[in-house]
Amino acid sequence: MAGKTDIFDLGRLQLSSGQARRVDLVVELEGLEFGGQRYVPQTRMTESVLDASRTTSGYSLRLRFQARLQGPCMRCLEYADTPISIDAREIDQPGGGEDMRSPYVGGDELDVRSWARDALVLALPAQIVCREDCRGLCAICGENLNEAGPDHVHERAPDPRFAKLSELRLE
Ligand SMILES: [Zn+2]
Ligand SMILES: [Zn+2]
Repeated sequence: MAGKTDIFDLGRLQLSSGQARRVDLVVELEGLEFGGQRYVPQTRMTESVLDASRTTSGYSLRLRFQARLQGPCMRCLEYADTPISIDAREIDQPGGGEDMRSPYVGGDELDVRSWARDALVLALPAQIVCREDCRGLCAICGENLNEAGPDHVHERAPDPRFAKLSELRLE
């Protein structure tokens, strides 16, 4: 595997306006905090594909890679392994206004490591689960409902009015 890239020099592609190149890069992914839990990528060094096109005064960029995040299921706290597909785009067009600037591009330098880190966070699902239909933990006793099965139920707390009635009867 080629060495990893933190900062990629777009200048060395020597693109003129309208030209594009595809480059394979190895980016280093970092662990992250999500919903109070810690998740780590299965492989820190991740093969990614960078598409760079030269616009009149800047670049149009696309970064794609696959990651697997490992950490606790947010419902049952068992181990979860979540595949995530990242397809991120950035435009950096100096002179084109604030929204045409990319925070990851400075001149010809692309901060591909920071971009990959943020793109991974943005691609996270709403909730990380061990499986789509994870039943989570019982709200009353905390048992794992995936293991306990569908007949795991608790008797409802007795209605206080009936408790009063039974007291009356005892007197
Ligand atoms: Zn689960
Ligand atoms: Zn229970």
